[in-house]
This record gives sequence, structure tokens and C-alpha cells, in this order.
Amino acid sequence: MKNSNKIIKSMENDLPYLEKLLQSLIECYPCYLSDGSGIKKAQAIVQRELESYGFNVTEANISETEIRNNPLYVKVEEWGSSFEKYSPITNPSLIGSLVVNKNFPILALNGHIDVEPVFEPSLWKYPDLCKTGKLLDRSFYGRGSTDMLGGVAGMLFCLKHVLRSSVKPRTNLVFHSVSDEEIGGNGTLKCLIKGPKPDWAVIAEPTGLSICGSSLGFHHFSIECIGTSVHMSQSQPDQNAIDVALEAHKRIISLRQFFSRSISSILGFENLKINPIVCGRIVGGLDPAVPAESCVLEGVVFSSPAQTLGDVRKIFEQVLYDSPKINISLTMTGMSFPGAISGDKLITETLIEAGKSLNCNLISEGFPSPCDMRLYTSYGVPTSIFGPGYLSNAHSANESLDRCELIKFCKVFIIFLTKFWDKVS
Ligand SMILES: [Zn+2]
Repeated sequence: MKNSNKIIKSMENDLPYLEKLLQSLIECYPCYLSDGSGIKKAQAIVQRELESYGFNVTEANISETEIRNNPLYVKVEEWGSSFEKYSPITNPSLIGSLVVNKNFPILALNGHIDVEPVFEPSLWKYPDLCKTGKLLDRSFYGRGSTDMLGGVAGMLFCLKHVLRSSVKPRTNLVFHSVSDEEIGGNGTLKCLIKGPKPDWAVIAEPTGLSICGSSLGFHHFSIECIGTSVHMSQSQPDQNAIDVALEAHKRIISLRQFFSRSISSILGFENLKINPIVCGRIVGGLDPAVPAESCVLEGVVFSSPAQTLGDVRKIFEQVLYDSPKINISLTMTGMSFPGAISGDKLITETLIEAGKSLNCNLISEGFPSPCDMRLYTSYGVPTSIFGPGYLSNAHSANESLDRCELIKFCKVFIIFLTKFWDKVS
């Protein structure tokens, strides 16, 4: 404890550094939809930081063919026109590595650099500040502050201080600074293919400082509803694709309870109230006076980590193709990621102990979203998700991160590292 108190003191005296680091990452606007230049700039900052703490940093360079042949590769290029030029090698992902002793096990820290696009700055209260990270009302304001540049900056800041202290790490460290997480995780996959394989991983996604050992599956669906174009005076209800869509929507929404129940049967999700289905987009119709010939209803569904895409599709088909028959066609070939359950106990227990020593009661629960945990668990790496900020704030207009929460994260994380090293030595 004496050592960690000293490190915490040194961190407290260096908070402007943390603030500047987070703001400089947000200012890069490392959005996955742009030309990649924002991601490269942000990765250059991460590289500079890691190298200054003694890490050796390389790009997770693997050939396009090799990653495409991996069964865990996410075929982003098949997701429609915004992604047709997608290549998994455009956006760099970095592997920072600090070898303390080649016989030590490896602890991986994972953070994604890519952020969601800001589609409509006008929806933000301060449109001019949506890519700045400026401190407003004691929170960092801007895209990526919560998801998850705050977690990245926080972990880097902890490494800076712990590695300058007298504490000797008892694991080797790898830092996976990845891109393309928001579109499925090919960045983390590149790091895992390239190696070395870690023995544990911590992902600093926004969990509101809960410790998460499982994550949900996420699947996009699209329902084409078909009508018949006839004069409105002669038309029947089933000839209007919009009426068909309303019925399809009713049937899909009737599945809420089923998916909620399957999610809450998983350890960590028992007490979480999660809406598992949303139809967020409807497109169709040409003329207000003519029954629509076609209408497309699109949405997403969260599934429990125990359900595959095939299971989800079967359940959708059961209700959509049930009688009375409606004229629809279901497609589930877009974004789809399975959930994950990690077997980690050591990280969770150590984080809880670290919290206790700071009088914070940290709880363990499920992560109500997909994330790169599933890639680590596919590689057999026990993983926990633990980071500052709340998912409710991620991807939204006015995304911001509470400054005190970020500092609390850093303090817990520092104590976690020192305790973890004590345990594994
Ligand atoms: Zn995220």
C-alpha cells in the first residue's frame, strides 16, 4: 500500500498531463469512417507515450489474406455501401510490449482508438466543441471521451506512473492499441494473430467502473416488407407494405421478453434491465396516395452469449413466418458479433480488492454490449472489462466523461496493477 500511495500522490501532481493526453486523443477525431488519418494521428500519440515508458512498439502488421482467412475475421466489406472499400490493413493497430523477464506471464491492456462518427454536430449542445475534449462542468466533452479514449488515456497514465516508481512489474506487459473495434474487432484480431498470446487481458471500455466478465451478442436484421401498388380506393390492408411493416414490427417487439429472459439467465446479467431489441430505421413508400410497394424495417437485437446468430435467426423466422402469413423477407447478413463469457477470476477479485482499499465498492456484472472480449476469449485468454464512463453516454450527442470518474479509475487501476503483480509473483 505504501508504494501505491506514493504512485497515487505522483499521479495527483500530474493530472494536467492526463487531461492534455485525453484532449489530444479526442482532437484527432479518430473516426473509423474517415480516411484513417485521425486514427494514425491518435496512434502516433499512443506510440510516443508507450515508448517514453520503455515499451517497444510495432504495428500489428499482417497480410490482408492472412486476416481474411481467419475464422474470426469480421467481413466489414459486406455491410453495404459505406463499407465496400473497407480493408483490414488501412487502419493501424499497435502492439506495445514491455518485457520484464521472458519467463513472466503476460498481462494485456486493450484500448480501442477508433470512435463513432459525429453524424450531426447540430444535435450537440456545443457543436463547436464536439471534437475537442474541453472540460465543461467538470467533464471532458467530445466524441470518444467515454468510448473509449478516456480508458486509453487512463491506462497510459497509470503505466507512466507505475513504471517510474520503485514497484517492479511481475508480468510482462502488452498494450493493444487497436482500431476497427467499433466495426467488429479486426484490430484486436490482428494483435492476437501477430502475438504474443497474453495470459490475461483487461479492456478499459466504459463500464462505469463495474467489472465485467461477459458481453452480449449483437445482430443486425433487415426485414423487407412487400406490398402491391394499386389505386388506394381499391387496395386491401395487406397490399400496403407499410401495414405489413407494422405487423412485422409488432411480431419482432413481441420477442423482447424472450431475449430479456435469455440474457438475464446469464451470470452477471440477472439484475440488469436491458432492452434487447430496437427497430431504428424504416424506409419505404413513394407517394402518400399510393399503397407502398416495398418498405424496409431495420434494427438490432442483443443476444445472450449462449445464443449464436443461427439461434437468433431461427427465433425471428418463427414469429415472422408464422400464420397469418405476411409478405416479408428477413435478412441477417449485416453486422453480427457473438457474445462472450470469460473464465477470469483473478483480475475481477484483484480489482474488487483494489476498490476496497480506496473505499469504493466495485461490483461485477455483465457488459450490456458486444466488445473485443469475445476475441480474447476465443484465444483462451481470461479477460475482464473495466473502465471509466457509462455506455448510456457512448455514441451519443453530448458524449462526455466525468473527470473525477477518470481519476478514480486511474487510482483503482494503479492499485490493481501492484496487487496483481504481488499475486502472480
Ligand atoms: Zn467501445
